[in-house]
Amino acid sequence: MATQRIIDFINTRRPNGPCMVLDLEVVRENYHNFEMALPESKIFYAVKANPAPEILRLLASLGSNFDTASVAEAEMALDAGATADRISFGNTIKKERDIARAFELGIRLFAVDCIEEVEKVARAAPGSRVFCRVLTDGAGAEWPLSRKFGCVPAMAVDVLLAAQKLGLDSYGVSFHVGSQQTDLSAWDRALGDAKYVFDKLSMEGITLKMVNMGGGFPTRYLKDVPTAQAYGQAIFQALSKHFGNRLPETIIEPGRGMVGNAGVIKAEVVLVSKKAANDNVRWVYLDIGKFGGLAETMDEAIRYQITTPRDGDLAEPCVLAGPTCDSADVMYEKNPYPLPISLTIGDEVLIEGTGAYTTTYSAVAFNGFEPLRSYVI
Ligand SMILES: *Cc1c(COP(=O)(O)O)cnc(C)c1O
Repeated sequence: MATQRIIDFINTRRPNGPCMVLDLEVVRENYHNFEMALPESKIFYAVKANPAPEILRLLASLGSNFDTASVAEAEMALDAGATADRISFGNTIKKERDIARAFELGIRLFAVDCIEEVEKVARAAPGSRVFCRVLTDGAGAEWPLSRKFGCVPAMAVDVLLAAQKLGLDSYGVSFHVGSQQTDLSAWDRALGDAKYVFDKLSMEGITLKMVNMGGGFPTRYLKDVPTAQAYGQAIFQALSKHFGNRLPETIIEPGRGMVGNAGVIKAEVVLVSKKAANDNVRWVYLDIGKFGGLAETMDEAIRYQITTPRDGDLAEPCVLAGPTCDSADVMYEKNPYPLPISLTIGDEVLIEGTGAYTTTYSAVAFNGFEPLRSYVI
């Protein structure tokens, strides 16, 4: 929800055009909630969710570690004050020269999900720790991460064996249960797979030490979501169930759950219209759309809460679209979005819970619209 600080900022600064305003105090609170929910786990903030320098500096000062997907993200974390031993290169798809650059920067923790990638890491970052990502089905997630990353657990065994043979330190297993995961039992299934890999390697004389439990912690959009504490309890129970009293080191990589609810997008109604005189479908066009930062409305996956100055008036479903000349730039049509019928051109609306996966998804200048401006306060 928009905090008072965000509302005051918008009202006094009157920023022109669509923008995302993010309250660092909410990020601070989220960080503490994760710390309290999973006190034994190290937090690696997933930088891709929102790499604003102010956020990275705050998290670095609070003691966070950083999950980075590229050399540029790793450099941003370093610039924010994190040391290289607090940074992981968590992308399973890396150019060998980028692995070498990360190694030069001092990074020694890398994700892999196949032997081909292990070979690159062994050449470019000799002796480093690697963890192998296993596939999950993403069931229960509103933004599933599909089959692009990870391998089946049986293959993870071979990958980690190969890593050890090539002089790397086979350190653990990772997974990501899918983003905006509202099913608390998703971690249980994945931790069962992780334990399987631990056991198989143990039979080969290799003791894995770490489970990277990924992100997936949700932000509240239209529906309530369980608290960080509820996630912590469910995850701790699943860990105990599978690993007994020999718990591995654990990492969590919250992205959305760390910054999503800290940000709000201020946007403006550009047009309200219909397609025919006798058509009762109302189209509402905002000055922000899929290319301006709301990419996660793709397939209507993420459904944001929108507040308007006319809330309380009678609301009826409408098609909600962005301002560009691209017909894909429609946010909600299959499942129309209820907005007040009194909503009119020029009204300012707030799109809540937009601190994650918005500014970085915004096109540089598609159709001449400038990239989504961001104010971190
Ligand atoms: C994107 C990503 C995350 C963050 O996921 P959220 O669902 O936003 O918490 C964590 N880990 C990895 C490896 C990622 O790619």
